[in-house]
Order: sequence, then structure tokens, then C-alpha cells
Amino acid sequence: MSQRMQGAQPLIVMSEGAQRVKDKDAQEYNIAAARAVAEAVRSTLGPKGMDKMLVDSMGSVTVTNDGVTILTEMDIDNPTAEMIVEVAETQEDEAGDGTTTAVAIAGELLKNAQDLLEQDIHPTAIIKGYHLASERARAEVDDIAETVDTDDEEILRRVAETSMTGKGAEYNKELFSELVVDAVRSVTVETDDGENVVDLEFVKVETQTGQSAEQSELLAGAVIDKDPVHDDMPRIKEDANILLINEPIEVEETDVDTEVSVSDPEQLQKFLDQEEDQLRRKVEQIKELGADVVFCQKGIDDLAQHFLAREGILAVRRAKKSDIEFLKEVLGASIVSDLDSAEPDDLGFGTVTRDINDELFYVEGYGGHGVTILLRGSTDHVVDELERSISDALEVVAQTVSDGRTLPGGGAVETELARRLRDYADSVSGREQLAVEAFADSLELVPRVLAENAGLDSIDTLVDLRAAHEDGQIRAGLNVDTGDVEDTFDAGVIEPAHAKEQAIASAAEAANLVLKIDDIIAAGDLSTGGSDDEMDDMDMGGMGGMGGMGGMGGMGGMM
Ligand code: ADP
Ligand code: MG
Repeated sequence: MSQRMQGAQPLIVMSEGAQRVKDKDAQEYNIAAARAVAEAVRSTLGPKGMDKMLVDSMGSVTVTNDGVTILTEMDIDNPTAEMIVEVAETQEDEAGDGTTTAVAIAGELLKNAQDLLEQDIHPTAIIKGYHLASERARAEVDDIAETVDTDDEEILRRVAETSMTGKGAEYNKELFSELVVDAVRSVTVETDDGENVVDLEFVKVETQTGQSAEQSELLAGAVIDKDPVHDDMPRIKEDANILLINEPIEVEETDVDTEVSVSDPEQLQKFLDQEEDQLRRKVEQIKELGADVVFCQKGIDDLAQHFLAREGILAVRRAKKSDIEFLKEVLGASIVSDLDSAEPDDLGFGTVTRDINDELFYVEGYGGHGVTILLRGSTDHVVDELERSISDALEVVAQTVSDGRTLPGGGAVETELARRLRDYADSVSGREQLAVEAFADSLELVPRVLAENAGLDSIDTLVDLRAAHEDGQIRAGLNVDTGDVEDTFDAGVIEPAHAKEQAIASAAEAANLVLKIDDIIAAGDLSTGGSDDEMDDMDMGGMGGMGGMGGMGGMGGMM
């Protein structure tokens, strides 16, 4: 009321302490934040990329080269930066690899957009141009892609190795690429219309520390990191009937709060006898079903353990839910949730053995499918990084098997796409043309950074690459060891086409999302007021500086 009466005064709708950054300042602020994220992962790109050591607030350490892991473990507290982290997450979900590439391209698109903004080109023209270029790039990727024979294990191994280079798995890449390719092929089914369907749900990756990486292996079936519940139980059961159960083998509790008052010793004995009977009955039921082995997701009472051991039944308790579910696939069994209604048909059939160190069960099923890659390494950090790189490799090989399209790596595709986009730009009118050209330049970040990270001169590399592509050598990429330009496809540096398409598309979308914002309204304190000085502070090269982004955290819930 009073405000209307004041007439000339502006209507105040924002709370006290709220801050607002508009137009160019907003764009600069956002671009700087997004670029800071891209900068943070750039040095890890490619076979010669370095690793990052991440220490969380609890002091636990992760050493990794994996883009998405770095970004998700970094405690980023800035809404714009988070949009870029999402690019990595989407890429990880959709393609399993190429996360660093996607984020680095997004950062470069924004850097180049900034230059265009400074030349007074309107954001909508940039957004339009980027969109056109992204669409065009996708079509060109398809044109550049080499269709490979998905039965060609040699090619598949090269795809696996390319995704592993620069990661821990690289040192044993022959072994690991073989494990990965064999695993994927074992879960590939050809449909009636000749398409390959790969279900990675049936491939489990398990890790064990203590032995060297060369001891890693592919097992037909599951690996369960458990001991038998009772020392007198057999540890090995061949051709066994296996029961999977997710209810406890314990005394069933009556009503939660019933109190049993025992007035004399006889009554107590009766009560205990009742409990014993109940357990005896459960074990009897298990025996009648014909089970030789029991994997129980819940607890097994001490007395029941004893009865089971006496029957010569091997039992494991508190197995992980995911393990029980995987065993179900491996054995082709059903998970029993109530012994009273269980049928012999619910059981699976297979062989249960122990590993040499007597630490793990191997379960080989006769009626289902599923394989386990058991990764071994000296320490937790080693196997964890190994696991991340094997997961990426599984994804890219699976994609290649189902999609069949591959690309030459080492910056070859990006250079070729840049060349084609520059040609295409000539046909685009207006200011959008400049944006298409900026997009082309942005893609060349990949070969540039690959060279940079390998200690090579990035300008020389780019000049050589461009010349080769002008000359019609579509597959010319960088050999990071020699610095030479070569046919990377022939050299075995091969990537799946789908991951690259996805990386380019999501980088473009994220950049456009950031560019569309011209108004930041923050409920709290927006400590970097968008001034140039502070922008420079944010443009940091490495992890060390990321803490500085916390200052922008006040915007948290707003965007
Ligand atoms: P991303 O998270 O994007 O997958 P990587 O660190 O795995 O990042 O690096 C991928 C890039 O490294 C790709 O451009 C790929 O072509 C390139 N690359 C991989 N192996 C080689 C190699 N042996 N020589 C040259 N480039 C390679
Ligand atoms: Mg990779």
C-alpha cells in the first residue's frame, strides 16, 4: 500500500540482501564459472593427461584421470559450474566415455562466445549459430564414421585400448582389452533382424586388492566376497542346487512389543524349544527343497548355522542385494522370499568354488548368463581407478558392438569436423556465420590439448593437422608419442562414433544454456559482483583454485 502511494519510487520485489547481476555482467560471470570447470579437467585429457588427487572433507583420497569422477567429487558450489558438471554426468550416462572431451569443448565454446559478445554480437545469434553447427557436426560425424565388422575382435580391442590409454589400465592394456571384449561378446545377442544387443547388466566388475593387476581375470559367473557362515561347512560344492533367499533364517519375531514373561525354568525351556523347533523346521525346508548351497541376503541364526552345517549345506549370510540379484541371472534362479512357498524350481544349478586365497566364492551357473571381470591390484586406489577405466571400456566396446560406427581418434575427427564446419559457415548468413566458425575453432581444442598435454607444440600440431585434412586425409590425427600426424585409425586409436556425437551435442547444449541467461537473481550474497578483476580470479587453471568458487555459493537455490 505504502509503496503505491510513494508513486515515483520503484516497486521493490526482492528481499533485502538479494543481489542481481544483469546482461553482459551476468554472461561474463557465468562464462567465467563454466570455464573454470573446463580448465580443471583439461590437463587430464588424452593418453598423456595427468591425474588429479581429490581429497574429500573426510580425508579420503581418490586418484583419477576420469573427467566425470573429478567433477562429481569436487565440491562445486556454483550453479553455472554445476550445469557444466551435468554435461559430464550426461555424457557418462549416455556414452560411458568422453566426459573430459565434452566438458573441455563446452568450456571452449563459451570462451569463444565471450569473444563474440565482446564484438557486440547478440547472444541469440551465437546460440543459433552454435545450434546449427552442432546439428551439422552430428551429420558429418556420421559421414566420417567407419562402419566396422562387429565380429572383428581386433578392432574392438583397439576401441577398448583407446579408451584405457592414460588410465591405470594402460599398463596391462592387452590383458584388459581382451577381458573387456570377451565380456561384452559373452553378453551380446543377435536379434532376428541381425542387430546386436548388448546387456551390460550381465557383466559385473569386482575388485580385489592384494595381487597384481596381471592376475585379473574374466569368470563365467559371479564372484561373492564372503565366507561360509560356519567353519564345519563345505567350501566347495560342485553341480550344486543353489538357493537364493532374501528373508532371514532366524526365529520369526511375533508382535514387535510382546513381552514374554517367564515365571519358572520349565516355561523358559519350553520357549527355547519352540525357537529351536522353528529353526530346525526352516533348515528342514531348505533340505527338502534339495538345496546344497544357500546365499542369504539377511542373517542366519547361530543355531540354524549349526543345523545347516550338520546337513552338509554351504551357507552364506548377509550377501549384498546386488550380489543376490546378479546370482539370480547367473544361475537362472528365482529369489525366494518365503521358505513356506518355495519350490525346487526356484533353485539354480551350478558350481561353487573358492579362489586360491580362500577369500572369495566363484559361482558358475549352468542355467543363466552373466560374467564377472575380477580386477586385482596392489592397493584400493589402484583397483578403484582400474575399475573406472574398465567400466568406460566396457561401455565403449558395447556401443561399438551395437552401433558399428567408429572414428579415428587423436584429434582426427575434431580437425575434420572443424574443416567441414568452416566450409559450411560460408553458407550461413549473418552473424550466425561467425558463431559457426567459433564452433569449428572450439572443436580444435581437442587436438590442441592432446598436443599440449603431451608436451608438444600445439600450434605446430594444429598447422600440420589442418594441412593433412586440407589434403583430404580424413583420418589424420596426432601420434602423441612422436608428435607426427598419422592415420590414427590405422594406428589403432579408434573411438566409438556415438560417444563423440553425444560429447559434441551436450557441450553445445550446455554452452547455449549458459549463454541464454542474462539475469542472475540471487537470494543471498553474490560476492563476485561480476567485475573484471574477480572474473580473472575465477579463471583458474587447476584444482587448487576451485575452493575460491565457494564464494559464489550464495546463489545456490536460485537457478
Ligand atoms: P575423455 O574423458 O574425453 O574420454 P580421455 O582422457 O580418455 O578423455 O581422452 C580421450 C582422447 O584421447 C580422445 O580424443 C582420444 O582420441 C585420445 N587418445 C586416446 N588414445 C590416444 C593415442 N594413443 N594417441 C592419440 N590420442 C589418443
Ligand atoms: Mg576416455
